[in-house]
Amino acid sequence: MVITGSTLIDGTGAPPVPDSWILVQDGKFTEVSTAQRRRGMMTLARNVKVMDGSGKWIVPGFVDAHVHLDSRDDAKRMIRWGVTAARWMAEDVEKSRKRALSSRSSLESPDLFPASPIFTAPGGWWSSQGPDRRLNRFPATPEEARESVRAAKRLGSAEIKIMDDDMGWCRDPMARLPQIRPEVFAALIAEARDLELRVAVHAPQLKDAREAARLGSTALAHGILDEPIDAETAALLQARRIFYVPTLDIYDFLADPRAFIARALGDSRIRESLSKQTLALYRSDAYFETYRKRYPNSQFVADHLKTAYENVAKVRAAGGEVALGTDMWAFPGAGLHLELEDFVGAGLAPIEAIRAATLASAKSLGVDAERGSIESGKRADFVLLENDPLRDIRNTRSIESVYKAGRLAWSRYRRGAPQ
Ligand SMILES: [Zn+2]
Repeated sequence: MVITGSTLIDGTGAPPVPDSWILVQDGKFTEVSTAQRRRGMMTLARNVKVMDGSGKWIVPGFVDAHVHLDSRDDAKRMIRWGVTAARWMAEDVEKSRKRALSSRSSLESPDLFPASPIFTAPGGWWSSQGPDRRLNRFPATPEEARESVRAAKRLGSAEIKIMDDDMGWCRDPMARLPQIRPEVFAALIAEARDLELRVAVHAPQLKDAREAARLGSTALAHGILDEPIDAETAALLQARRIFYVPTLDIYDFLADPRAFIARALGDSRIRESLSKQTLALYRSDAYFETYRKRYPNSQFVADHLKTAYENVAKVRAAGGEVALGTDMWAFPGAGLHLELEDFVGAGLAPIEAIRAATLASAKSLGVDAERGSIESGKRADFVLLENDPLRDIRNTRSIESVYKAGRLAWSRYRRGAPQ
């Protein structure tokens, strides 16, 4: 297949290329050029399908660097919104590895890259989500921590996740949760790095994030909310190439759930992609009451939202790498587009925001050799857009079609396409 005439935004942050010429063979981009350069060159083999992309924009498949999957339907929604790969925070190593394998051949799921298991303190945040059947994800001592990480490696984990949070910032005046002990935290990271596993750490508070960076984590799964990031920590993120995943969308949500839902539903493209039941839920008082009870400290989040946005700018100014992850329970898939808008709100140019959601996220997963940009030799994961995302970042929502490894996974013109 060759896609001709579209404006190419390749995911690397390079300026857009008008009138591009992109050849896809065996699920990969094999030539990325311009129509002008191609003109007069050898003619194409007869079996090459020519797709006219003129008047459209082509971007790499999006890579969400922070998701949880509640259902198969969530995975389908991600595909519908152009997400072709995702870091999946998962409790059970073996189960998630199997599901990740089956995602590779599926047009109904992004390719999943588990960060698994999710370690936390006994009784800590995320301890109620169930155990891993094969290892202890609530280690109480450094020895238990090391043993669990070795087990995770044996079961096929390439990345672990650690929760380091008392949740006061969103749950006060509820009781603060037990936080993972410093020596257990250090042992988890040290053992993982010795075994060449990546380590994503959930640490929205500066003191915890700083410790995670010092100890050698490879990604911060949330932005820092409670305090302005200090120059030393920002420099450390840059020096150690630790990926910063701001998840501004969840802070927006927790600061004011009603405003966040109203903003999302204010876009007809998102509104029309939801089922009647989901819409009814998001319009019910009961929904907001659930979140008010679960996260009663919305005032703290609202008061520090500006800090979270400014911290993204500070990390960038220090030369740090920002990747895009959503952690978005309300809008799987669509959340990525809300987060892109937030990134522009935090001062990124649209082309940089797109790079964060593609190449930078792929780098954070260690898969940028084959994913994350439209370059010759990489997998043909791509999205065709009907409107210019550089003029208005919300135009990443104008999705015409989504391709995974060169195969059509979703099109707005296909009959019966799930919205
Ligand atoms: Zn999460």
